[in-house]
Amino acid sequence: MIKPFEFLLPTKIIFGRGELKSLKEELKEKNPKKIMVVTDPNLRNLEVFKKLLEQLENFDYVVFDEIEPNPKDYNVEKGAKCAVDEKVDLIIAFGGGSPIDATKVISLIAAQGGSVKEYMQKKIEIEKALPFIAIPTTAGTGSEVTFSSVITDTEEKFKYTIKSPLIAADVAIIDPELTLSLPKSITATTGMDALTHAIEGYTALCTEPIAESVGLTAVSYITKHLEEAVENGDNIEARENVMMGSLLAGLSFSHSDVAAVHCMAEALGSIYDSPHGTCNSVLLPYVMEYNLPETTDKYASIAREMGIEGEDNLEVANKGIEKIKKLSKSIGLPDFKSLNINPDDFEKLSEMSEKNGSTPSNPRAINKEQYLEIFKKAYKE
Ligand code: NAD
Repeated sequence: MIKPFEFLLPTKIIFGRGELKSLKEELKEKNPKKIMVVTDPNLRNLEVFKKLLEQLENFDYVVFDEIEPNPKDYNVEKGAKCAVDEKVDLIIAFGGGSPIDATKVISLIAAQGGSVKEYMQKKIEIEKALPFIAIPTTAGTGSEVTFSSVITDTEEKFKYTIKSPLIAADVAIIDPELTLSLPKSITATTGMDALTHAIEGYTALCTEPIAESVGLTAVSYITKHLEEAVENGDNIEARENVMMGSLLAGLSFSHSDVAAVHCMAEALGSIYDSPHGTCNSVLLPYVMEYNLPETTDKYASIAREMGIEGEDNLEVANKGIEKIKKLSKSIGLPDFKSLNINPDDFEKLSEMSEKNGSTPSNPRAINKEQYLEIFKKAYKE
């Protein structure tokens, strides 16, 4: 039986090479009095940011460029204050998942008041947010089409997810040309983040047929083109395919969920502030090995999307997991040990992983003890 489900997509998607140019038209239609561009300090100094500003020539805008990786509660509070002080009525998020996630909560606080903490602790109901346009420059988190925002509570050192369709972008302008300037390491880490979304979106317990279809297709786009995108960063075709994979993966997990890999990666990101995609990539194969008994057929389908052939699903699935390990290595990502995680923290990291809201979505039941075993196994190999 197919379980009943709803599929909501509040975001208009504009995808294609050079489509940044459509921003002008979108803005003319929305006719904002004052725009705030939210980005990070590194991006602001890059050529790609000038391309954005060219689109804003005839509009009144202010730039807020203080978003850090794994965006922090204080980044969001300061951004929201700037939006209110400047009487902003539309926000453009320009960057990777960090500026886009931060914008979701900035637009919420600017429209509705309250503090980041109150939204993290669900003390205030989400009712409205300022309109915002997401322009991703990594491929990626898929945050341009998801309903969630992951913000670090710096006091607790915990990454909280704030989730509602009301904080989704109104428009996502996805232009693969904007990723041409990504260095190899960020291309690799963000690409593996997208692959993790695709796999977890496809296999999460709460998944449904649309999320399954787009998740599985995303695996194909990403695994067939990521190595080339890393190796030859100016190959726009490879960039375009990875970006499409990232978009589909975002659509998949936002309508399904992420699972154990993300629970562990977010715990690592909370304490060590390590790049999110790297945390995912070092853990993905080990979680897949743990989940395999409950997900053999789906993992075999994933492996087949990666070009692995064979009749026996278990054998094919195992080969798929090995191929993911090889992919991660070939694009230069580190193994778990090289992240310099202190094994004394495994206990705490496992507790945090269990507490993550996506633990119940993992296709095989998992608790603190099992998370601990996976951390130890990933560290040993
Ligand atoms: P990021 O936004 O933190 O950016 C990483 C680095 O890449 C930054 O230094 C940035 O300046 C640089 N960069 C970005 N675009 C560039 C470009 N075109 N050229 C050169 N450099 C560029 O990285 P990310 O991986 O995109 O986002 C990670 C964040 O997203 C994490 O906080 C993670 O938790 C979150 N996330 C959110 C969702 C969601 O659905 N909301 C999903 C996955 C991850």
